[in-house]
Amino acid sequence: MIPFNKPYLTGKEAHYLYQAVLSGKISGDGIFTKKCHQFFENRYDFKKVLLTTSCTDALEMAAILINIQPGDEIIAPSYTFVSTVNAFVLRGAKIVFVDSEATTPNIDVNLIENLITDRTKAIVPVHYAGVACDMDFIMDIAKRHNLFVIEDAAQAIESYHKNRPLGGIGHLAAFSFHETKNVIAGEGGLLAINDDRFLNRAEVIREKGTNRSQFFRGEVDKYGWVDVGSSFLPSDIIAAFLYAQLENIDIIQQKRKKIWRWYYDELITLEKFGVRLPFIPDYATNNAHMFYLICNNIEERSRLIAKLKEQGILSVFHYLSLHKSPYYIDKHDGRRLPNADNYSDCLLRLPFYFELEDSDIQTITQLIKEFYSK
Ligand SMILES: *Cc1c(COP(=O)(O)O)cnc(C)c1O
Repeated sequence: MIPFNKPYLTGKEAHYLYQAVLSGKISGDGIFTKKCHQFFENRYDFKKVLLTTSCTDALEMAAILINIQPGDEIIAPSYTFVSTVNAFVLRGAKIVFVDSEATTPNIDVNLIENLITDRTKAIVPVHYAGVACDMDFIMDIAKRHNLFVIEDAAQAIESYHKNRPLGGIGHLAAFSFHETKNVIAGEGGLLAINDDRFLNRAEVIREKGTNRSQFFRGEVDKYGWVDVGSSFLPSDIIAAFLYAQLENIDIIQQKRKKIWRWYYDELITLEKFGVRLPFIPDYATNNAHMFYLICNNIEERSRLIAKLKEQGILSVFHYLSLHKSPYYIDKHDGRRLPNADNYSDCLLRLPFYFELEDSDIQTITQLIKEFYSK
């Protein structure tokens, strides 16, 4: 049996959990939260980061920070996870969905500018599979139209656009440590704040609308309710687990890149059957978040999934285009988004986790090659 995903433990997780528990302080913003914050601020030079309970929550914080009001418009790809846009819908925003590129599932930046109106507030690019969107292009549009850019960097840890770390380019960015990502904490996320204007308010929103963080630093002599907010901070137990992972990020990434390369080298021959493999633009890096194939059609993909499953191998598709989702189909303006639909129908993700070995990849890729050669 080869599962689709298997959470990897680096070895120190239980030890740090134990330490966190023994420290006597396991609510948010304890010792391990601080260690995680430092890790991100040092390694990626993000101005400020705040751990959150999920990437979804980090995106909801972003929606509050940019003051989304009912009727505001958000430009985002349709081929993405629900949370990318749900965070803004919760505050009354209308989502203007954009098609994917033909070459990658990322937002087609050439389509953005025509969709901007007086109500447009932000662009929310998603770095699909950890591969950068064309951020120079997006930041240029945002600057000219005075829009915010919020990167959904859920899959993008350790990945770069040219030489800049993803999550450090937009005004705000959200990362995920869900157990299916490269670096995990079960559930967990991070908000990266790259614009000074949001520094203080982000802390307040994360602490139920109070200025508790300032109080603990001794900057105010009492704390109280100063803004809206919610409880977006994770327990230090989550941070303890995450820190063990972060300490081993180089080992994790080295292995994942190997796995990705094994898949690629074995499957590149499938291009003669019309199957497409991931494409990495020259401004982007590959953080080996996932490996996918793009089949010729949905029927072929279903048969391939079934064939792999017969042999105990779990491959999955995901993201049904959001503009066609039961919740949004009536709210979408009717534009066709053919590339997003194509990825919904044809993209297939193969098993991807740290403990996959060369022999597993051989088994999986042999079956896929047999499937196509028949
Ligand atoms: C995983 C993921 C999310 C959600 O992350 P959570 O931490 O589970 O909230 C959001 N967007 C994208 C693109 C994702 O892959």
